[in-house]
Amino acid sequence: MHRASTLIQVVSEGDGHLQITKKSSNVAVKSTTTKSSQKSIRTITIEEVEAANTERKPWVAIRGKVYDLTNLLDKHPGGQEMLLLAAGRDATAMYESMHTDKNTKVLNKYVIGNLKKSNMPQFAERSQFSIEVEQRVLQYFKNKGIDPRHAPGMVIIYTFLGLVFAASFLGMFSERASQINFLLPWFSALVMGWCCAMMGFYHLHDGCHGAFSRNPTNWSILRRIYECLTGLSTTVWIYQHGFGHHPFTNVVGIDPDILSADPGIMRVHEDQPWWDFYGLQKYYWLPLYSQLVLSRKCFEWMDVFYYRAHKNIPINPPTWTEMAWGATTMSVYVAHHFILPLFVFKISIIRLILLHTISDLTWSLYLTLIFQASHVNDEVAWPKPNEDGLITADWAKLQVEASLDFAHDDAMTTFLCGSLNYQAVHHLFPYVCQWHYPAIAPIVKDACKKHGVRYNLKDSIWGMIGAHIKRINLFAEPPTLR
Ligand SMILES: [Zn+2]
Repeated sequence: MHRASTLIQVVSEGDGHLQITKKSSNVAVKSTTTKSSQKSIRTITIEEVEAANTERKPWVAIRGKVYDLTNLLDKHPGGQEMLLLAAGRDATAMYESMHTDKNTKVLNKYVIGNLKKSNMPQFAERSQFSIEVEQRVLQYFKNKGIDPRHAPGMVIIYTFLGLVFAASFLGMFSERASQINFLLPWFSALVMGWCCAMMGFYHLHDGCHGAFSRNPTNWSILRRIYECLTGLSTTVWIYQHGFGHHPFTNVVGIDPDILSADPGIMRVHEDQPWWDFYGLQKYYWLPLYSQLVLSRKCFEWMDVFYYRAHKNIPINPPTWTEMAWGATTMSVYVAHHFILPLFVFKISIIRLILLHTISDLTWSLYLTLIFQASHVNDEVAWPKPNEDGLITADWAKLQVEASLDFAHDDAMTTFLCGSLNYQAVHHLFPYVCQWHYPAIAPIVKDACKKHGVRYNLKDSIWGMIGAHIKRINLFAEPPTLR
């Protein structure tokens, strides 16, 4: 069984023997506990785990167990880099969304203790739906004889976007482009913004989820290309998206993609207290979404190297390799973003700022509308942990119910949204290459139907954006008036 389904609490240590209570019975976890007890494991606090977040001491907590991953660093199939990002935290939901039974058996060799109490929400026991949908999707790949990450055709898309980037760059800054038509540089800036958003759906998303081939070097190449061309940090994105949004989709106060702080800049959920300025959110949401890229460019490298946190998610101390990559990719970005246009193409600083602004606004809006609208609307679930931090439904069910899909079977929409019109499929199987989503979506939908899991689907992208605007307008009203 891949997802251990019992929540274990250690209630006292007594004379060195652990007393363990279980919220529900589960054979897989029970046997692990017995083995662990034989190794005389101890109770470990979340603070101790959080302090063990480096290469020298990489600990991680998963389903109430603490693992010392020092001896796994060189053997991790997903590479050392990805493993170190997870160190020093309760990574249960992230781990379970990316690994299978076989991996858990390997992991059990490294257990060193029981976690006293987690500081992250825990999902309920794995449901029959969760087990069946995974088995059926994996069986699909087995029958086809292909790896879920295998999709060489993606190279065509990655290359195409790289060429669009180069062409729009020349269109924005070369003298020849303005001689052809004075509007061409401004049109090229729009294309550049669109292209950067698309690289977010492809290079960034696939590279950071490890969803293209089984080779971590390929993931790293995609990540670093994205950083060089866009100036954004993929490390921050992995923490925000991989450790925040994916494991805790739509959990208010935990999912960093949802603007649900108190007081936050927008109000999208009834648990957020009312502030008068929310009455204006129906007017400012669009300008707010438009500045996303600029604010990320200004602040996110500081999150990695200075604040060591992104919103509510701690960021581990960067390794020397990470620092070297940060310096290299940032130098490449500054060279093509500022130095080449100013000193080689000799355009004015005002023109440079205006062109980049048009590009960044386009990029922000395109990206934000798709990822916000597919989760922030009235049709999706908003999971809520109880006082003990437990979420009463299982993770897989909530991944489907907290997502809104759109325009299935429309190949152009699928391409233009980086397959995020199959949000539910992506959330259930983030390691599967997006190339395969249209093929496995019917399997997921069928399993949902069989087990009574709500699958949210709109016919078009406009239906999804409409649902998003409706939610923003609804929560712009004071609670008493609604
Ligand atoms: Zn994702």
